[in-house]
Amino acid sequence: MDTPALLCRLIGYPTVSRDSNLELIDFAAGFLDDLGARTSIDYNADRTKANLHAVIGPDERPGIVLSGHSDVVPTDGQDWSMDPFVANRRDRRVYGRGSADMKGFLASVLTLARTASKRRLRQPLHVVFSYDEEIGCIGVRSLIRSMKQWDVQPWLCIIGEPTAMRPAIAHKGKTSASCRCRGVPAHSALPDLGLNAIHLATDMIAAIRRIQQDVIETGNRDDAYAVPYTTLHVGTIDGGSILNIVPEHCRFDFEIRHLPADDPDELLARLDAAADTILDAVQSRFGEADIRIDITNQYPSLETAADHAGVSLVKRLVGEAGHDKLPYGTEGGLFQRELALASVVCGPGSMNQGHKRDEYVSLDQLERCDRFLDGLLNEISEA
Ligand SMILES: [Zn+2]
Repeated sequence: MDTPALLCRLIGYPTVSRDSNLELIDFAAGFLDDLGARTSIDYNADRTKANLHAVIGPDERPGIVLSGHSDVVPTDGQDWSMDPFVANRRDRRVYGRGSADMKGFLASVLTLARTASKRRLRQPLHVVFSYDEEIGCIGVRSLIRSMKQWDVQPWLCIIGEPTAMRPAIAHKGKTSASCRCRGVPAHSALPDLGLNAIHLATDMIAAIRRIQQDVIETGNRDDAYAVPYTTLHVGTIDGGSILNIVPEHCRFDFEIRHLPADDPDELLARLDAAADTILDAVQSRFGEADIRIDITNQYPSLETAADHAGVSLVKRLVGEAGHDKLPYGTEGGLFQRELALASVVCGPGSMNQGHKRDEYVSLDQLERCDRFLDGLLNEISEA
């Protein structure tokens, strides 16, 4: 099986994040075992999902991690013109859910592993396939805990998210949070007897928008990002029960996507202060009033030094002089924070196709990725 054929096989495993990824992991582990790689599988608590780690070459030396996620986003509500989990090859493209994000890279890594298994390597290759990346880089965290126990740490990680094979050295971090406002119910004909939870929530949302404006006007900027500053955004809101009752509850979800130079905790502290101010004004009359902010998921930003040897290596191998900074996150931020591991994001396909209906990756992109990984293997092979 060449890379496109392997990709077709991987697309056939419907590894939507809410479902099991074990069929894919079993296939990949079997494939790597047959090559003589040393594989280990790290299951979640109820053994429905797993991370895979495989190493080829001398693992007593610092090596290179090739990292990717096995899960894909759902196709619910997307008007696909074909079965998203049956790969479809036409017009020098492979169509299917996950073709761009990011099973094309996984297929390329399996092809590389087959070549690598026939070589004598000066450095090991670590293959890492994780689960639940699409819902906040969840699965890879347990793998990172075991990586901390490795005697020898890797010196470079390549994450094959779809960048159209352009190297990216940084991305924003993300904090997802939920804000719960509690008021006091009353008949809406006598609203002054109650405290409107939706109004508390809109006061908090106004505070979020003031902070955003302040960040835009006086905060850090990095023009390498499509949006060059930290952003705050409210994504859902749910409150009240019926029009003629002053609502007791309102909840909204928001996120912060921060530049590496910014600290999301500092922004959260400003929101806590805004909540205190809002509550101070009402709590003498309404002791039950409350505003609570809970963090639901968080991953750190990534910023690899532009002059790191791994960045230069990837640039040389893909023939790109420049680098990008990405609007979306990867496990690279966690690798950097937890393991001090330098990461470069570079993979086949484009996020213009990722997560969308009729997702595809072109054969040209897959060939470029294969050539890139072959070049990498040549760098670390004995002559
Ligand atoms: Zn992805």
